[in-house]
Amino acid sequence: MIELDGSVGEGGGQILRTGLALAMCTGQPLRIHSIRAKRPKPGLMRQHLSCVQAAQAISSAVVSGAELGSSSLQFEPGAVRAGDYRFAVGSAGSCTLVLQTVLPALMRANAPSRIELSGGTHNPMAPPFHFIERCFAPLLKRMGVGLALQLRRHGFYPAGGGEAVATITPAEHGLQPFDLLHRGALREVYAECLVPGLPRGVATRELSTLGEAMGWSNDQLRTPAVRQDEGPGNALMATLAYEQVTELVTAFGEKNRSAESVAAAAVAELRVFQAGSGAVGPHLADQLALPLALAVHDSGRTAAYSFTELTEHARTNFEVIEAFLPVRCETQGADGAWRVTISPH
Ligand code: AMP
Repeated sequence: MIELDGSVGEGGGQILRTGLALAMCTGQPLRIHSIRAKRPKPGLMRQHLSCVQAAQAISSAVVSGAELGSSSLQFEPGAVRAGDYRFAVGSAGSCTLVLQTVLPALMRANAPSRIELSGGTHNPMAPPFHFIERCFAPLLKRMGVGLALQLRRHGFYPAGGGEAVATITPAEHGLQPFDLLHRGALREVYAECLVPGLPRGVATRELSTLGEAMGWSNDQLRTPAVRQDEGPGNALMATLAYEQVTELVTAFGEKNRSAESVAAAAVAELRVFQAGSGAVGPHLADQLALPLALAVHDSGRTAAYSFTELTEHARTNFEVIEAFLPVRCETQGADGAWRVTISPH
């Protein structure tokens, strides 16, 4: 039984999701207490419960404590079964966080899986659908894993109603670790503004504010077609595609927040990333650790990546990984960037 304290470090839902994923990957039972103790509304919220239920469905786990508001949970996984699944995250809870929970186990299963998800596809505090598709999936591909994604409907807080389909094809010859220490040459940068159910002028203002600040031309500022009934919602996304890696910065609009302030938030994050030299930004830094640690564990080979910022999310993920897997995650700061080396232990 692996015991986790949900209040340590970052103290949010990620400890739970990483714990569930690794319990299924290793077959070790998990007991977690003080779930999300550092969040304003602690305990299991609907979207965390959805993660637990999805994990239970793919691994026939015996679970206790899986109730709304619960601060502790016991999860004893059985064998992971590839297959066709449908997970509906109530309300506008994030689809991508449910995917993040089941993906590590399903990408090491003995057959492909197809997962239909419904809920939020573009949520603050979660990876937007396009981030998973453009930034995360290509890195899984380098490990040998296929992650094909289809966005059927956008889903924004609070209405939700988004739909996405993920097809996961496990690596044919086992997970392959790799090093990611440099971004490589910059190939393309562009911004997109999603504004379903909102006046088009919101997109015009956000894109022109961002374009002016970054010196980007009109053909780099785009408003993709989105069905009006998929809103109301607003996400301003900036994509930076490098030879080795793609980064996506997102700022979300909300009621009573001006278009200019949404653009300013995206610009601030873009500038930090551009000024840094780490291969990946803060979000990929915490999300890449788990699949790469599994690849290190399965292959017996070391891997390393560099990143711009050592967040509590990343630090906490490294710790949870070390609790489950015989690997070591060593972080080190050098030349304005961070590096983590994951090695068999
Ligand atoms: P938690 O706050 O513990 O529920 O974890 C949130 C997860 O979503 C972490 O893996 C974050 O890196 C990720 N995340 C939050 N915001 C973004 C964003 N804008 N782009 C990509 N990933 C994000």
